[in-house]
Amino acid sequence: MKPRIAIAGSGFAGAVLARELAESGLYKVTVFDEKAHVAGNCHTSRDEKTGVMVHHYGPHIFNTSRLDVWEYVQRFSKFGHYINRVKAVTRKGMFTLPINLLTINQFFGKSFNPTEAKAFVATLGDSSIKDPQSFEEQALKMLGRELYDTFFYGYTKKQWGVEPSTLPAAILKRLPVRFNYDDNYYNTKYQGIPVDGYTAIVEKILDHEEIEVKLGERLSPEAKDDFHHVFWSGPMDGFYDYKLGRLNYRTLSFERVDAEGDAQGTPVINYCEQSVPYTRIAEHKHFTPWEEHSKTVLFKEHSAFCKPGDVPYYPMRLDDDKTKLRGYMNLAEKEKNVTFIGRLGTYRYLDMHVVIGESLDLAKACLAHNKAQGTWPTFSGLPLEKDDTPNPATHSSHATAKVAATV
Ligand SMILES: Cc1cc2nc3c(=O)[nH]c(=O)nc-3n(C[C@H](O)[C@H](O)[C@H](O)COP(=O)(O)OP(=O)(O)OC[C@H]3O[C@@H](n4cnc5c(N)ncnc54)[C@H](O)[C@@H]3O)c2cc1C
Repeated sequence: MKPRIAIAGSGFAGAVLARELAESGLYKVTVFDEKAHVAGNCHTSRDEKTGVMVHHYGPHIFNTSRLDVWEYVQRFSKFGHYINRVKAVTRKGMFTLPINLLTINQFFGKSFNPTEAKAFVATLGDSSIKDPQSFEEQALKMLGRELYDTFFYGYTKKQWGVEPSTLPAAILKRLPVRFNYDDNYYNTKYQGIPVDGYTAIVEKILDHEEIEVKLGERLSPEAKDDFHHVFWSGPMDGFYDYKLGRLNYRTLSFERVDAEGDAQGTPVINYCEQSVPYTRIAEHKHFTPWEEHSKTVLFKEHSAFCKPGDVPYYPMRLDDDKTKLRGYMNLAEKEKNVTFIGRLGTYRYLDMHVVIGESLDLAKACLAHNKAQGTWPTFSGLPLEKDDTPNPATHSSHATAKVAATV
């Protein structure tokens, strides 16, 4: 009899790990998902009304710089050519994002070259701010009031539900401002969209004789007594019945709009003004430009605080959360046969390629530990770095690296 492994969650984290362990020939793996479908938040399906491949939990664009991850996903699906280019509606009109040379030239009515634009933007910054303490101060120091107010203030406030002046400065250090005409949203080497959607990929990953999939079934933490090992891609605080308090998330809701033809001419448009209740509109047919559909469907994305019962989307990582997280990590480290994986299991915002890469690395580590008779890792990736402690200057503020990425 092979040892039995249980995995909570059939998102990319759980599915890739299941496949790697099954392929080792050493284990029998059961994957549980409380949802009625596999693929977790990456779930896609063909919309009955329009025939468009719809991303049910928000638009997902596959991108990575890891060749092994890119090759891994291609084993299970053909990818169509797709480069993500985002537009923004602002009080000053429509621009391309991330802020690039075209954005700067159109915004200021100039025709700068890269050197001139860099020098010009440097003059906009608020030089009176020496040591920025918040997202807002950092933005004002880097970009000045006009660009900040137009592109960042309203969007960030809608996305996170707090004043950007209470967000930590560190978030904006990664702000993607480009002084050339490159408006590719990502800096990664490989990018594309799977032609049959993400759910089809995950179904194929899970299609292995040593993997059993149980949908509509929640794995309980007590299962650790029945299995050789449990991998948990559900919320880490949920595993402990929230006994140290709930970790905070933002949740999303999607308002559907049906239309004929081409409604917005591009996949994603951000709405930067605070007065517009949604953050962005995605027209899903444009994620598969090789397909043709006479009808179209769009989703307006609304962001809100995640209450019990809502779907958790973006970990907020408040300073208070980090304190609770440290406590949950201490509990997790005492477990003998449980590993916390993926975005909910480690309470980090993670792109698909990162989750897949971590599961590939984790499987290798587990199999190597086997040979050395060592214990398996507690986390697929550390939920908190050792020096990632609450910052007294921004206590109770909402800290997350996703802010910059979503602007
Ligand atoms: C709005 C949005 C847009 C995104 N866009 C992109 C993008 O463009 N590109 C990109 O690379 N990434 C994107 N991501 C990130 C991507 O969604 C994640 O990387 C991915 O979903 C993480 O996979 P996972 O397996 O860790 O978690 P999930 O996909 O959340 O899967 C976890 C699964 O576990 C199940 N589960 C939980 N607890 C239990 C339990 N006890 N028993 C049984 N089942 C359980 C859940 O039902 C869920 O299906 C986006 C995320 C969001 C929120």
